[in-house]
Amino acid sequence: MEFNGTYRMLIGGEFVAGGATFDVINPATEEAIASAPDATQADLDAAVVAARKAFPGWAGTPIEERKAKLNALGDAIFANLDGFTRLLTSEQGKPHHEAQGECMGAGYWLKAFTALDLPETVNEDSDERISITRHVPLGVVGAIAPWNFPMILAMFKVAPALLAGNTMVLKPSPFTPLSTLKFAELAAEILPAGVLNVITGGDSLGPWMTAHPGFDKISFTGSTQTGRRVMASAAPTLKRVTLELGGNDAAIVMPDVDVEKIAEQLFWAAFTNNGQICIATKRMYIHKDIYEPLRDAIVAYAKTVKVGDGSEQGTQIGPINNSQQYARVLELIQDARDKGYTFLTGGEKAEVPGYFVPITILDNPPEDSRIVQEEQFGPVLPLIRFDDYDDVIARANASDYGLGGSVWGSDEDKAFELAQRIQSGTVWVNETQHLSPLAAFGGMKQSGVGVEGGLEGLLEYTATQTLVRRKKAAFVS
Ligand code: NAD
Repeated sequence: MEFNGTYRMLIGGEFVAGGATFDVINPATEEAIASAPDATQADLDAAVVAARKAFPGWAGTPIEERKAKLNALGDAIFANLDGFTRLLTSEQGKPHHEAQGECMGAGYWLKAFTALDLPETVNEDSDERISITRHVPLGVVGAIAPWNFPMILAMFKVAPALLAGNTMVLKPSPFTPLSTLKFAELAAEILPAGVLNVITGGDSLGPWMTAHPGFDKISFTGSTQTGRRVMASAAPTLKRVTLELGGNDAAIVMPDVDVEKIAEQLFWAAFTNNGQICIATKRMYIHKDIYEPLRDAIVAYAKTVKVGDGSEQGTQIGPINNSQQYARVLELIQDARDKGYTFLTGGEKAEVPGYFVPITILDNPPEDSRIVQEEQFGPVLPLIRFDDYDDVIARANASDYGLGGSVWGSDEDKAFELAQRIQSGTVWVNETQHLSPLAAFGGMKQSGVGVEGGLEGLLEYTATQTLVRRKKAAFVS
C-alpha cells in the first residue's frame, strides 16, 4: 500500500474524496501534514445505505469466512506496519515504538478475536419441543473512536461487530483520521463492498451519526461528557449503545514494595502515551512508610525520560495530541499553581513549538483538589500519602468514574484482597493496562455502559433470539 498523502473515505466499496476537507496537524510541530475529507450529511446517508445493503449478505456469510476476512485484515496491517507506524506518530504524536506497538496490537486484535464463537444454548430438548437461544447480528453499527489510540480502539469495535455479522460505518476522531483512512484502503481490498465504511469529518458528524435512524447500534469510545450526549441522542430510536468512557484510575502502593525496583514501572503506569490513556494511573496513593523514598525515586526516574518529537530516535514521551487537550492540561496545572500545591517536577509550559507539557508530578495535593478529582488525560500525576487501607479504598471509590485501578505489593494475596474492594471495571495487581481481546473490558459507574472484548463484548453486537420448535404437534398429520 502507498502511504502517499492521499486520503479518501470508503463508502460502499468506493473511495470518496468529498467536497470540503479539513487539516490534520502534527502535534509535535503544529504544522498541517495532510487534509482529510469533511463528510456531509449526504455522505453519511450514503454510508448507512451501503452498510444496510451489505448487511444481509455479510450476516449470511458463514462465520468461518468472516473470520478468514478478519485474519486477512490483521495480516494486511502487519504487512504495512512501517507505513502505519510513521503515519500514526505524525498525526497522534506518540513515539515511534509506541505507535508500532499500537499498530501491531490493532493487527493482533483482529486476528485474536477470531478465537471466539457465538454460543447457542439448548434450553429444552424434550419429547414436546426443542428450545434454543442464539445470538444474531444487530444490523448496522455506527462506531465512533477517540484520538488517543486511533488504530487499536477502532479495532476493538471492528473485530467483534464484523465477526458477529454486522456491517459498520466507522468514524475516527478529526484529530487522528489518517491511519483509519489508510486502514479503509485495506478493507476495500479484503471485505465485500459496504461491510466496512469509513467516513471523516468535523464536530457535527458524530451527532449526525448518533441521531441517524439507520443505525441499530452506536459503539462509542471517548469522554464521559460526550458519552452522555451519545446516549441521549441514541434514545429516540432506542439504538443499542456501548460506551467506553473516561476514568480516574487510582493506584494503591503498599509499604512492602521494593521502592527502587518499582519506581520505573509506576512512572509508566501514569505516563505511557503522555498520560493520554483512559486506564492510565491518574492518582497514585502511596503508603506513608515509603512515601518519601518512593516519591523521590519516581521523580529521579522522571528526570531521565526524554520528551520530544515522537519521530526522533530516543523520544520516550511525545506531545499532547491536540490544542484543546493541551489547553485543558495547562489549565489544570495553572489551578494547582494558583492553589499553591508543591510541584516535584514540571509545572511550566514548554516554550517550544508543539503541544509539549513537561512531565509534571505533584507532592500530596489535597484529596478534594481538581488534579486528584478530575481526569487530567495528560502528563500530570498527583502522588498522595495514605496510612489506612479502609480510608484509601474509600478515597479510590469516591468517584463517579470506575474504569480501572491497581494495587501494588509484595504480599500478593493481600494486594489481591484489596484489589477486589475497588469499584471499577478492571483492577490489576502488580501490573496495569494489560488488556486482552479475550477478556471483557468496560467501565463501572460513569466510566461506561457495556463492555468490549471477550465473549461478553462480542455478544453486545448481537440480539438474543430464542427459537422454540414444537415436536409432534396435534395438527401435524
Ligand atoms: P471525545 O468524547 O471528545 O471524542 C470522542 C469521539 O466522539 C471523537 O470521534 C469525536 O469526534 C466524537 N464526538 C464528539 N462529540 C460528539 C457528539 N456530541 N456525538 C457523537 N460523537 C461525538 O473524546 P476524546 O477527547 O477523543 O478522547 C479522550 C476521552 O476518551 C478521555 O476521557 C478518555 O478517558 C476516553 N477514553 C476512553 C476509553 C475507554 O475504553 N473507556 C478509551 C480511550 C479513551
